[in-house]
Amino acid sequence: MRLLITNIAQLATMAGVAAKDGVGVTWDDLGLVTDAAVLIEDGAIRYAGPAAALPKHGPPDRAIDAEGAVALPGLIDPHTHPCWVGSRHDEFAMRAEGKTYREINAAGGGIRASVRHVRRATPDELAAACTGRLARMFALGVTTVEAKSGYALNTEGELRMLRAIAQAAARTDQTIVPTFLGAHAIPPEFDGDRDGYTELIVREMLPAVAAENLATFCDAFVEPGFFTLEQGRRILTAAKDLGFRLRVHADEFEPFGGAQLAAELGATSADHLMAVDDAGIRALAAAGVTATLLPATTLFLGQSNYAPARKLLDAGCRVALATDFNPGSSYTENLQLVLTLACTALHMTIAEAWAGVTYNAARALLLHESRGALLPGRRADLLLFDAPDVRAIPYHLAMSDLRWIIAGGQLYRAPTPFAQRA
Ligand SMILES: [Zn+2]
Repeated sequence: MRLLITNIAQLATMAGVAAKDGVGVTWDDLGLVTDAAVLIEDGAIRYAGPAAALPKHGPPDRAIDAEGAVALPGLIDPHTHPCWVGSRHDEFAMRAEGKTYREINAAGGGIRASVRHVRRATPDELAAACTGRLARMFALGVTTVEAKSGYALNTEGELRMLRAIAQAAARTDQTIVPTFLGAHAIPPEFDGDRDGYTELIVREMLPAVAAENLATFCDAFVEPGFFTLEQGRRILTAAKDLGFRLRVHADEFEPFGGAQLAAELGATSADHLMAVDDAGIRALAAAGVTATLLPATTLFLGQSNYAPARKLLDAGCRVALATDFNPGSSYTENLQLVLTLACTALHMTIAEAWAGVTYNAARALLLHESRGALLPGRRADLLLFDAPDVRAIPYHLAMSDLRWIIAGGQLYRAPTPFAQRA
């Protein structure tokens, strides 16, 4: 299968971002090419560059006139919680009325509300819910998604969630990266016994998930009131011994040492980091742990304590961006919104923000050798936007000007933003 795309007014290959491994990204690293063409063969990029230098090739099976579109790598969302059922709009209403997190929890809200719903859900219900959310992300240009478990918090339920994620992954041309997050919260039956639940994760859940090969990564919520540094270390070390790669929910509420723990254990990514301190920032930079920032969460919670992106970047950290899509603190599938928030709320440059949703996000999932840049041999995940320039895409707040989506060489027309008379 050969697909040829011509008449691309501006192409961003991310070649410089890849060459720098995502650290110290500047405008020139976007690898911008004007009057470009892309040649795709058997699901991989064969050529992406000036149309004038297009190599000799056989007749294309499909040819697309991009009509002056802007082309970029497919977006990558490296932190989502898409597998749950049951709306939590009641909590949203309580927050709107000024109720605190503690009051909402006392009324049965928070993660435990989702745990009640997910424990009752059938595998098919979970897979259907997850499939629909991944499809919404795809319609917004997200061709790779990390997907976490963590709303069952018992062995059977966590396995059911991960199998549902695998079922949803089999139905899409997106790449889905599954993460085991049994250490998301303490389930009610372990109230007052966090060590007991930690042992259940280590002795029963992790080996069961590994035996079925259901997750690439293991994640843990290392925060006050959730898992201590010691418990996080115990869980993540056991996971590492079983062959999982690691990621950490770190320093969201206070500087708790989560960033340092991620660095100590050689985690791939440390996520949230709103409260990370200077020592944590230095540790992440020195260990090469990707800092994954989730500004939509801060926005959705009506807060202003955005992560110190500038400090992280200036200290030499690689910064990725994600939605944190989840039913409580960030109910949005829209990574393009996050791209804008990176520029407005995190004070990142547009080049840094684009790197954060492409190459650096691939790096946060250890997929940077095959995704996140439009270079020969890489998987053909790319987007064509109806926009005059790559800068015009984050400029358009919470709207998508996407025209075509290509995932693994498969061509999709993006949904039209216009209503159609019925
Ligand atoms: Zn999360």
